[in-house]
Amino acid sequence: MEIRTLALSTMIMLTLSACSQNEQNNMSTESNDKKEFAAEMSDEQWREKLDAEEYRVLRQKGTESAFTGEFWDSKKNGVYVCAACSEPLFDSETKFESGTGWPSYYEAIKDGAVKEIHDNSHGMMRTEVVCGNCGGHLGHLFPDGPQPTGMRYCINSVSLDMVPKEE
Ligand SMILES: [Zn+2]
Repeated sequence: MEIRTLALSTMIMLTLSACSQNEQNNMSTESNDKKEFAAEMSDEQWREKLDAEEYRVLRQKGTESAFTGEFWDSKKNGVYVCAACSEPLFDSETKFESGTGWPSYYEAIKDGAVKEIHDNSHGMMRTEVVCGNCGGHLGHLFPDGPQPTGMRYCINSVSLDMVPKEE
């Protein structure tokens, strides 16, 4: 009887200390945990995290209708981040008016921020652009952009959030 009580209280103490330790870890490494979590999230978890249109575009490679998104006509200064995992993707300084109805950039904010994938779907040879961190679908890359790169990253607004720059 005494041994059982002792074992039980030891278990409770271990459980309690494990919980408080986890909380501390979460607080100190929140951004790293978030990134690792995003890379490993299941389809079910993405469905819960994203709204229906975000899920359709980011996880099912959909495309928003031209001239309907939040950012195609935006001229605000800031950093465009992934709507799914908050990773910085594009700087507003590289955004240009493409006339397509989707926000367009001539380069990613840094190497590895986005990944380019060969895409033969819909009978077209295109280059798909996905988030370098979580793999979420962003849009497509075309070789008809302005200098200095000559590239056009044609991105769905719904795949992006904007963090304004401090003036
Ligand atoms: Zn992402």
